[in-house]
Amino acid sequence: MSQDQHTKPFTSSPISIQEKTFDQILSEFKASMKRAFHEEANIDEFCSTRGIPPDVLKELMSGNPLALCIPREYGGFGAQIKENITFISAAAYESLALALTLGINNGLFIQPFSKYGQESAKQSVFSDFLNKSAMGGLMITEPNFGSDALSMSTSFSEKDGFFHLKGKKHWAGLTGMADFWLLTARKKTESDQLMRDIDIFVCDVNAPKQKILVEEYFENLGLYQIPYGRNIIDVHIPKNQRLIPQTTGIQMLLDLLHRSRFQFPAMALGFIKRIMDEAIAHTNNRIIGNKKLFDYDQVQNRLSRLQANYTICSAFCANSSKIAAIENDLFPYGLEANITKTVTSDLMQESAQSLLQLVGAKGYKLNHFAGRSVVDSRPFQIFEGSNDILYHQIADAVLKQMKTLKIKNLHNYLNHHIPNAAEKVKHLTDFDLDYKIAQRKLVKFGQLISRIYTMNFVIKLGEIGFNNNLISNALTLLTQDISNYLNSFHFENKNTVLTDYEESSDWFSLI
Ligand SMILES: Cc1cc2nc3c(=O)[nH]c(=O)nc-3n(C[C@H](O)[C@H](O)[C@H](O)COP(=O)(O)OP(=O)(O)OC[C@H]3O[C@@H](n4cnc5c(N)ncnc54)[C@H](O)[C@@H]3O)c2cc1C
Repeated sequence: MSQDQHTKPFTSSPISIQEKTFDQILSEFKASMKRAFHEEANIDEFCSTRGIPPDVLKELMSGNPLALCIPREYGGFGAQIKENITFISAAAYESLALALTLGINNGLFIQPFSKYGQESAKQSVFSDFLNKSAMGGLMITEPNFGSDALSMSTSFSEKDGFFHLKGKKHWAGLTGMADFWLLTARKKTESDQLMRDIDIFVCDVNAPKQKILVEEYFENLGLYQIPYGRNIIDVHIPKNQRLIPQTTGIQMLLDLLHRSRFQFPAMALGFIKRIMDEAIAHTNNRIIGNKKLFDYDQVQNRLSRLQANYTICSAFCANSSKIAAIENDLFPYGLEANITKTVTSDLMQESAQSLLQLVGAKGYKLNHFAGRSVVDSRPFQIFEGSNDILYHQIADAVLKQMKTLKIKNLHNYLNHHIPNAAEKVKHLTDFDLDYKIAQRKLVKFGQLISRIYTMNFVIKLGEIGFNNNLISNALTLLTQDISNYLNSFHFENKNTVLTDYEESSDWFSLI
């Protein structure tokens, strides 16, 4: 794929977004998505080819959606997290790739740059977003350091008033397309050692000595509208483009990542609502054995599960809108951020798989919403912290607190933190825990704890007036899931892989 395919349209005049209300901005954006995806082009036709047709991108950017999160003092709308979540949800209803594109720009560039960027750099960067349809992304991952990102080998040293960054980064969303990047790197000492802390720099790829070379574009399995690839980093960054941490660079990075994880429910909610609407419409229309697919009990099971997933994501959105404001330091909120990210991304994939099952063979196409949903939603369980690892971390965090509080009984711990949910699952959780658990059990325990915390968020959503029937259905489903996770947690299975598995394992030779 050539870099030209990712060239963006440049709007010439800034639209004064500050004079509009949020409702106005949202309805204009929805109208532009309708024109882009359903009138001027058909999303099902272009979605199976890579990139975004220039006319479609021009239409989507016509209302300057990236101005939403830019602070008011730099000409943006200065949206609250609550508004950003609603906006991204609306995009996810139409296209998960578009929602992720907005999520990358807002959560991984604009929000952290607004918070930690230097004043002298902000005016010109934000002006490019507002007037030239500029985009931004974040590069952390390296070929040899993905999950173990803090060991990254991209380094920087100070030379002639610039920071010289050298290394390789891959899988950054909007590779070759974004104009601005937050680049993460570790300082190289005079003895060529890498310091433990991480620094973050803004790279302006259109400025001298800051061009990032894309070594290879990847054939990503889904999310065809977002380019990914491997980049060579060899750039000289001016001093005012370094982000200034309030404490350490690692804490700044975690504040950034936790805020982004808290905004996952935005994408999940719109995506799952669309899946639910598609599933209800399809099963109402499809006649099998003289009755509507909708009327089969197993289908009702699937549809009600989708509806519960919709309620759960709504609960996460409500919670995130209270916690994740940009001025809050989210570094200490690892447990909640990780629960939010893992559960919502699991629900996205589960819902997509369920829709594809209901639609059957005709859904198994890249140019059908159901098939695309499966491949588009899968990486959400991998990026920004692999779910296996995050569940392990959730379990570790809870066990550490239990140890500190000298509590062994799971119900007692839950009652201490989330009494409303604890009460509902007391019959399942009234047992003592061993603080030392094998990793596979830690992951199960993390999944279990996450669903109990989720229950708490759903109860809170009910308390502020959300549809009572939906709340009650979601709580029933969560109780069932919690019971399943517990069964699995208690089951003893210490199997390990046999390396010489080919010995006596050919059934044919035994017959
Ligand atoms: C679509 C997509 C978009 C992305 N966007 C970005 C982006 O915008 N910016 C960016 O910097 N990066 C991005 N990434 C990269 C992403 O963050 C990494 O892929 C992720 O951190 C995992 O790293 P890895 O792929 O190297 O997997 P690895 O680190 O090799 O891990 C692979 C798997 O091994 C297992 N594993 C690893 N460690 C452990 C452990 N300690 N215990 C048990 N199991 C373990 C887990 O199952 C894990 O999923 C993106 C990736 C994808 C697929």
